[in-house]
Amino acid sequence: MNDLRPGSRFDLHLHSTSSDGRFSPEEVLERCARAGLDVIALTDHDFASTLEVGPQLVAGRRLHVVAGAEVSGVHDGTEYHLLVYFPGAIPDGFRDFCRRQCQERAVRYERALSALDLAGPAVDAGARNGDRALTRLHLAHALVDAGVVRDRSQAFAEYLGDSHGTVPRLSLAFTEAIRIARDCGGFTSWAHPPRGAVEAHIDTFVAAGLQGLEGVRPLLTSADRRFYRTVARRHGLYLTGGSDWHGWRDDDPGLFRVHAVEIRDFVDALLAA
Ligand SMILES: [Zn+2]
Ligand SMILES: [Zn+2]
Repeated sequence: MNDLRPGSRFDLHLHSTSSDGRFSPEEVLERCARAGLDVIALTDHDFASTLEVGPQLVAGRRLHVVAGAEVSGVHDGTEYHLLVYFPGAIPDGFRDFCRRQCQERAVRYERALSALDLAGPAVDAGARNGDRALTRLHLAHALVDAGVVRDRSQAFAEYLGDSHGTVPRLSLAFTEAIRIARDCGGFTSWAHPPRGAVEAHIDTFVAAGLQGLEGVRPLLTSADRRFYRTVARRHGLYLTGGSDWHGWRDDDPGLFRVHAVEIRDFVDALLAA
């Protein structure tokens, strides 16, 4: 895995049409390669990609694809996201878990559509079968398309928050998500962890098997970065990093890139696996 060399440029948090991203997985890879990224992970919501992993030629450039997913779970009434990475291909056990989560998502999405009194778009057979993940962002788009709201932020603010009760709550506990990912051989990192939640829950999550924090992200202050570094050091966690790019802002991936040196412990762990 010499693509994981110190000078490599990483983005370990990207979304595609397999969940709520704008571009197909293949297009995301092409855009990443053209943008000069060296190592990327597609981390669609509760979705185990079937894309080839490891080093490959994409758009005439060498790109190393790390297998990953972003799993949603609940702790203390709040939803948190868990990034799961695999050193090789995604194992069948984790694939089965993701498929069940996607199937549950389709059920929740359909209930939300009827709670919102939205006619469509209907859930297709693929989504019902767990071949892709439906999310709140899909509901936000449906609300915009139906003319109920003017944009996605209004959709979230007025219809899709937990307090609105339109989207049925998740049943999976975040600590259970960590355990399942670890049992399947995955590396776990808490995605975009809010600082207050880190302070409140880090001991519980580490006890459940959490191994990392996504502490290298766009728009963090240097104090934020210092905070994540300190917590990681104190608990023996590694840092991971990524943009959480979905493609909806008319920007390309690669504007934000993580340097291997910033996530060295994670890279070492992946190399050693
Ligand atoms: Zn997330
Ligand atoms: Zn994400």
